[in-house]
Amino acid sequence: MNKKILVGLLTVLIVLNMFFAYNTIKKMEEEVVNTEEFTEFYTEREEEGGGVKLLESNFKVYEKHYKIVTEKVKEESKKRPEITTYVVKSGDTLGGIANKFGQTQTVIKYNNSHLGKYLKIGQKITITRGNSITYKVAKGDTLGNIAHKFGKSVSSIQESNHLKTTVVHINQKLVIESPKVDLNKISKKTTGIDIYWPVKWAGITSPYGRRFHPVLKRWIGHMGVDLRAHYIPVKASDKGIVTYSGWMNGYGNIVIIKHSYGYETRYGHLKTLKVKRGQRVRRGQLIAISGATGRVTGPHLHYEIRKNGTPINPMKFYK
Ligand SMILES: [Zn+2]
Repeated sequence: MNKKILVGLLTVLIVLNMFFAYNTIKKMEEEVVNTEEFTEFYTEREEEGGGVKLLESNFKVYEKHYKIVTEKVKEESKKRPEITTYVVKSGDTLGGIANKFGQTQTVIKYNNSHLGKYLKIGQKITITRGNSITYKVAKGDTLGNIAHKFGKSVSSIQESNHLKTTVVHINQKLVIESPKVDLNKISKKTTGIDIYWPVKWAGITSPYGRRFHPVLKRWIGHMGVDLRAHYIPVKASDKGIVTYSGWMNGYGNIVIIKHSYGYETRYGHLKTLKVKRGQRVRRGQLIAISGATGRVTGPHLHYEIRKNGTPINPMKFYK
């Protein structure tokens, strides 16, 4: 290739490039700038006369007075997401309400643990902005733990809640914007324990509550739920200390774990025990292999959650 042609081509390329760069700058000048959208990419500084200096650190400096939409834009975006109350009207569905407010049903359910299967006219529903949820600080919570729980950074939670420090207090209500976790898996109770299913979910073979016992042939209270589990790994629902690991009448081989705030989980009819009494366990740690020991008609995992000794329906934690 001729040297002249090469130089010519390069010149054309440079001119084209300058043309596009000029257009880009021109476009930016014309733009009505929403300062909020720029904060991530540019350093923003107040200029005399109300303009804003936008600096791009690497190779170019744009200096221009931009027309700022309104001062309010910035203020409002920094404002704590507002919480409103919606009153259920005739004909409302949860899906319809979710659409109306641009939320997912999961978020609405998470923020309104009182909602049952059917909506009732006149029922009040808490609506947050966007996909934010409300979280009540529990005993033992730190901002770091809370941030981790919802897949957020500490600073983003501080920003959403106008917190100048990382100090939070019990029962303080926080807004978590767009939590990056599956809310279905997080307990609504602000008790400080996160309960996870101990086995891979395959359904329930017997629910919590009163039932006709197939072996004893009489009505008895079922203190837990029977989870479909055919000789599979059983994992600790939350961190805690093993208070029992051995044989117990009716339960067969059982592991009992004590958690914070008076909570206790029980795992019955186990085939093999993998932990010992007094041992500390992490959430999700293997504690046993499920089986069919004790008073059973077939293999399953009998799973109980108790608070201060009183059984609770485990399904309450997994809605
Ligand atoms: Zn059972």
